[in-house]
Amino acid sequence: MELRKITVCGGGNGAQTLVPIAARNLGCPVDLYAPLGDEARRLRAGVEAHGGLEAKGAVQAMARPHCISADPAEVIPGSQVAMLVLPAFAHEETLRQIAPYLERGAWVGAMPARGGFDYCATRVLQEQSREDVILFGLQTLPWACRIEEYGRRVHVLGVKKAVDAASRPAARIGQIAPLLEQMMGLPIGAAGSLLALTLANTGQLIHPGITYGLFANWDGLPFDRAPLFYQGLDEEGAKVLAGLSDDVQAIRARLDGILDLSVVQPLHDWLLRAYGEAIADPSNLRSAFVSNSAYAGLKAPVREVVPRQFVPDFSSRYLAEDVPFGLAASRAIARLAGVETPAMDRVIAWAGGRLGRDYLDRDAGEARIPRKYGLETLEQLIAFATERG
Ligand code: NAD
Repeated sequence: MELRKITVCGGGNGAQTLVPIAARNLGCPVDLYAPLGDEARRLRAGVEAHGGLEAKGAVQAMARPHCISADPAEVIPGSQVAMLVLPAFAHEETLRQIAPYLERGAWVGAMPARGGFDYCATRVLQEQSREDVILFGLQTLPWACRIEEYGRRVHVLGVKKAVDAASRPAARIGQIAPLLEQMMGLPIGAAGSLLALTLANTGQLIHPGITYGLFANWDGLPFDRAPLFYQGLDEEGAKVLAGLSDDVQAIRARLDGILDLSVVQPLHDWLLRAYGEAIADPSNLRSAFVSNSAYAGLKAPVREVVPRQFVPDFSSRYLAEDVPFGLAASRAIARLAGVETPAMDRVIAWAGGRLGRDYLDRDAGEARIPRKYGLETLEQLIAFATERG
């Protein structure tokens, strides 16, 4: 595909990392759609002062976005690809805003897709009679990255060795994967469907699982500094992660042979494949987390209640995104498939308590689950995942 222009949607860590990398690797204009608050103005000011958006650390690139706007009419027309680099709770709203301006046959992808992106995005496109748009998603963000100075510089702590992607219709992945490889500068594996990516979403295990391990028995007393998130993983926390991974493997075992779920790997295998030599001690799940240089120094989400007194921030996206757009989405698939998920149930119940939500029952419809989009049975779910388009 010969690219005239792409648009990155989002104004956070991932979006500000993708812009310079994609502009350098693709050599075409990259627009930036940042509708939240005054982010577009702050991005323009930062780019103006710094001469572009800069990624430094494990990846180095610098580029000036072609146009930065909070108005989709200014940045979406003319783009063959729109990349949603946003927390999953912003996918639906953002897609609704950009859909009227998308080129015919444009590609829209979420990076990462998280759980259930396909049902939600398909509904938005149907509502706007935009069934010509092709959807895709990546299994994760290729980088661990944090903004250092807004609109100017991001620090890339680590780069994954490879990332999987899927499309809807599923067979179109062969067309977009080479372009994503060029854009990101790393190998992109082809997943069988976006449903496979929902189950292969490792953020849904890692973020709520580690948060549970760190804070389920928290005594309510403030910390004098934020605990390390990944390097703080202890044996009990690693058991929680292993339990969540086993639940996903049980779903895979039930659906194997019906769907191509080869990308749905046990968490330890995925970690070794994604981070390779960045992991000093790959011998077990815990050691692979605590010795991963890409995770070094990353802190647990906390709030400073008084100077140098910190409490866990349970409203962070590690729970607020990864439970309703992750674990709860996978658990709903397990229910349709008749698979028990004891570790997921425990973590979802605890996280829901912290978020004031009952995602196992009363508030399940707030999560991105198949039933919310009219997929009530396993047969319907499979038919949706394998639709030819
Ligand atoms: P972030 O926390 O930086 O995202 C916040 C940004 O998202 C906001 O600044 C805004 O630009 C946008 N946003 C939020 N709500 C919005 C709304 N309602 N409408 C429009 N825009 C909105 O997120 P990030 O770190 O860039 O992560 C993006 C995704 O990648 C998330 O799903 C995250 O879990 C995942 N991820 C991030 C990392 C990382 O290292 N940053 C690593 C792995 C996965």
